[in-house]
Amino acid sequence: MNSTTRRTFIQTAAIASAAPTIIAAESKSSGKERRVIETDVLVCGGGCAGSAAALAAARSGAKTLLVEKAPFAGGIITSVGLPYFDGIAHIDTKRIVVRGIALEMLSKSGVCAPDAQTVAKHNPTIPNTFEFKLLLDRLFQEQKDNLSLLFNSFVCDAQRNGDRIESVTLANKDGLVTVTPKVVIDCSGDADVAAWSGVPFEQNSEVQPLTLHFRIGNVKPISPAESHACKDALKAAQAAGELPHYYGPGIMFLFQCSEVYIHGVRVPANPTDAADLSRAEMQGRADAHAMFRAWKQNVPAFKDAYFIEAYPWIGVRESRRILGQHILTEDDLMKSRRFDDAIATGCWYLDIHPNKTVVGSANDFDPKKHQPEPYDIPYRSLVAQKASNLLVAGRCHSATRGAHASTRVTVTAMAMGEAAGVAAAMSLKAKVEAAALDGVKVREQLTKLGGGPFTDA
Ligand SMILES: Cc1cc2nc3c(=O)[nH]c(=O)nc-3n(C[C@H](O)[C@H](O)[C@H](O)COP(=O)(O)OP(=O)(O)OC[C@H]3O[C@@H](n4cnc5c(N)ncnc54)[C@H](O)[C@@H]3O)c2cc1C
Repeated sequence: MNSTTRRTFIQTAAIASAAPTIIAAESKSSGKERRVIETDVLVCGGGCAGSAAALAAARSGAKTLLVEKAPFAGGIITSVGLPYFDGIAHIDTKRIVVRGIALEMLSKSGVCAPDAQTVAKHNPTIPNTFEFKLLLDRLFQEQKDNLSLLFNSFVCDAQRNGDRIESVTLANKDGLVTVTPKVVIDCSGDADVAAWSGVPFEQNSEVQPLTLHFRIGNVKPISPAESHACKDALKAAQAAGELPHYYGPGIMFLFQCSEVYIHGVRVPANPTDAADLSRAEMQGRADAHAMFRAWKQNVPAFKDAYFIEAYPWIGVRESRRILGQHILTEDDLMKSRRFDDAIATGCWYLDIHPNKTVVGSANDFDPKKHQPEPYDIPYRSLVAQKASNLLVAGRCHSATRGAHASTRVTVTAMAMGEAAGVAAAMSLKAKVEAAALDGVKVREQLTKLGGGPFTDA
């Protein structure tokens, strides 16, 4: 901030909760005012990881600001409409391996008891993704003394001073806004803050395909013969040039007995290229409607069906991953390697979707051959290199492409987010940079709070 800066402390009406964060206005030479928000912890991205990170940091007493580009939190669950809590439990025994905030969210969604030790299915679904938005709103509002929210706010730049991130720039209805945090947690999924602040990261030239989820109403029960007809209809649409790629299709009566929810759109694209992402959004919509038309015209169960809606965003499975203090590998997972600084447990298979049509499944391999036993995720895989006050949680944490194919799932992302939030608060209390914190201490604190790794039975 330069010497011409005028700081006016104003109330936080622009923030959705009764926010403790101080907002100031800065006079720019252009005459335009730019808001400056001071906070202890800034969480960028309010998806699976970010929602847990913000709750954990605020509950640990840190003044926290959560910034999300959507008008609501929940990330993939609410903006791509995905109700799955994969990664919560062992595939065979159904033993719960992630507790803490993820289990709290699942139990508050009515799926299991808060102290459940097992779940009925290893990949449970929540009954309603709109109600999940409300649940998050409520959990955030309960932390209103420490937690501020800015929805409809895009993190668009980060500024460094030496090895620290000094400020992060947002774009929202206030214009460009400067946030000056003490600790930043990048939960953008795409490692936006890390990339824009010059932190080492990698992104494969080919990443997993993008998928738009959609719902069709007034569908009759689908017989096994009609299930074949659904596949044949897509094959014919593809041969006619109406559907470039697809998978499955996963046609699921998940929410209501006459309504189907479809996993099947498959769009190869680069999600960190704005123009290519825009093309992918349009292709996803075109493909979803092509699938609907193919079934309506060819499958009796869909004769009177109607297209309800596609979710607002196409879903991104893979993009940038930071190169952190530890890069988690397939070998770490498949050998279920233990780490002293483990802060979370993962258990999903190495789930890489190929960029081609696969009929009857999502993958072109046998998932059982890529199924690890529960494994540790170390604190060091959340710690960025060359930025002492940056933690990264969720699908952009530090892992190889193969390991990330497992760690990217919803519940594992929540567990990492919770750990990052607790660690951020600890770093402030101890006056130690987040990158220099002892991960063993983070693990101990998580255990005290009822979270952390549950790798061993
Ligand atoms: C189509 C699809 C199907 C999937 N199926 C499953 C499944 O069945 N089961 C499962 O467990 N997992 C599944 N996954 C994987 C899993 O859902 C995600 O990897 C998981 O959500 C990762 O959590 P996250 O918090 O890292 O990312 P997200 O949940 O995507 O959250 C990232 C958040 O950051 C916000 N954001 C991004 N950039 C910015 C920015 N610059 N400024 C502000 N906000 C920003 C986004 O809006 C979003 O809310 C699927 C993923 C996709 C795409």
